[in-house]
Amino acid sequence: MKITFLGTSAMLPTKERNPSSIFIEYGKEGILIDCGEGTQRQMRIKGIKPTKISKLLITHFHGDHVLGIPGLMQSLGASEYQKTLEIYGPEKSSTYIKSMLKGFAFKGKIKYKVQELKNSSKFFSNDDFILYCKGLKHDIPCLAYSLIEKDKLKINIDYTKKFGLTKHPLLGKLQKGKSITYQGKKIDVKKATIKKPGKKISIILDTSPDKSIEKFVLNSDLLICDSTWSSDTINRRGSHMTNLDAANIAKKSKSKKLILTHFSQRYKTVNELLKESKKVFKETLAAEDLMEINV
Ligand SMILES: [Zn+2]
Ligand SMILES: [Zn+2]
Repeated sequence: MKITFLGTSAMLPTKERNPSSIFIEYGKEGILIDCGEGTQRQMRIKGIKPTKISKLLITHFHGDHVLGIPGLMQSLGASEYQKTLEIYGPEKSSTYIKSMLKGFAFKGKIKYKVQELKNSSKFFSNDDFILYCKGLKHDIPCLAYSLIEKDKLKINIDYTKKFGLTKHPLLGKLQKGKSITYQGKKIDVKKATIKKPGKKISIILDTSPDKSIEKFVLNSDLLICDSTWSSDTINRRGSHMTNLDAANIAKKSKSKKLILTHFSQRYKTVNELLKESKKVFKETLAAEDLMEINV
């Protein structure tokens, strides 16, 4: 699973940072989380084809998270996009999307469907992963997302080769969790496979700190978190978080890695924010535009 940070600034774009957008590539699925203004160009720079997008997950409808959507949909329409774009977001998403597309001469060449999500729900599942959302505390309805990869079974070749079985369609059955019989001998799935636990990625964008976030992101392998402010501006944080709020959530939720993002344009460098967070939670990184992480 590859995660690319396409935009890491808060409300205003800066010379170094585009407004919010994150792209997760998982097999055939391309999941775009938010689509701030300029996201398409960031994708071009990274060589990510817009047609790779299968799902658009919207955290909320503040401009820094959604102003790139009409442009993206127009480009998909001009790119022989064969899929139906699945758009997920908070309440009123359908109305917002319709209004956005009414604001210009949209040719409407692509198929899309919008699903408005409940505050706490599992809203998608396939053979590889499950997607969940949860309501956050922001000025307007805003959702956190998490992707939980399903556990996989790897063939224990050292064991199966004792039965003369190294390459065979039957191995596929074992990977599906079923014991098999080969040349009259029973091969137990528990002995013949090794469990590879699935990873958990959590994305918490605009929110004020809230106790319930810890539970939602519990044991994340990667936690991506709003860090609009530095801890010395805690009184101004409003409906956002500071670098230390994020670090504390990472620590309390027993997450493995934290990436701070959504930085206010007031910070020319975020080195101090990073340094301070690391004192609370060592495995912290500060997101940069076009940064890539493999999980
Ligand atoms: Zn924002
Ligand atoms: Zn916001």
